[in-house]
Amino acid sequence: MVVGVLALQGSFNEHIAVLRRLGVKGVEIKKPEQLRSVRALIIPGGESTTMAKLAEYHNLVCSLFLSLSRYKGKKGKFPALREFVKLGNPVWGTCAGLIFLADKAIGQKAGGQDLIGGLNCTVHRNFFGSQVAFSSVLHATNWIQSFEAELSVPEIVAKEGGPPSFRGVFIRAPGILEVGPEVQVLAEVLLPSDKPAKDDATSESLEENAKAEKKVIVAVKQGTLLATAFHPELTADTRWHSYFLKMLDENSEEASSSTVTVVPS
Ligand code: GLN
Repeated sequence: MVVGVLALQGSFNEHIAVLRRLGVKGVEIKKPEQLRSVRALIIPGGESTTMAKLAEYHNLVCSLFLSLSRYKGKKGKFPALREFVKLGNPVWGTCAGLIFLADKAIGQKAGGQDLIGGLNCTVHRNFFGSQVAFSSVLHATNWIQSFEAELSVPEIVAKEGGPPSFRGVFIRAPGILEVGPEVQVLAEVLLPSDKPAKDDATSESLEENAKAEKKVIVAVKQGTLLATAFHPELTADTRWHSYFLKMLDENSEEASSSTVTVVPS
């Protein structure tokens, strides 16, 4: 079994190392044509704007993808990645990868970065802390930047067994503010009660709602798409990766059982 890991920036090596521990080869994906050799993809955490810019700068994703005739005419950036998602291949986005997969992202600089989309949710890019300016000020005022939390994920315990909770490593993580009806919520995190209310007038109502409810969605599944706001690849627990590999197995089985065999008469 081979799994592609988008290797433009961020924690792709860590994902490949976990896959190796599970006896699976993780291959770095830097060019569009490499996507054709894999049937599943992990989009790692990192910094989503940087990742998008690197893709453009190196001509690795955008222009090169656009120049491939089979993608010509497709609107927007990342057409090959969009196509890969649309074809129903399993894709797992962690942190920045979750942002890329979301249909809608808020809380970003004007313009923000392009999204691959496909996952019916609204994500706040820097819900748990700013990536760039004023980070030390926010830190001094107790604004959460990065933290760890125990997460209850019954769906994964049911499939993978093991301890009842998971260590969630959140690094300036996004939060999922709203999900569509087809999206299965896998995990939520309770906001610490000392989190200060945001006082600037630019915050959006969804963000305010999430904070008022003190619970934020941090892991979801929608068909063949899996997304986590935290970083399972930075822990010793391999259950998220093996859960994703099972999604790949199930998808392959479905694909082969839907193949029509023509029996000659
Ligand atoms: N908030 C970050 C972003 O905007 C993601 C952080 C992460 O992947 N650890 O890209």
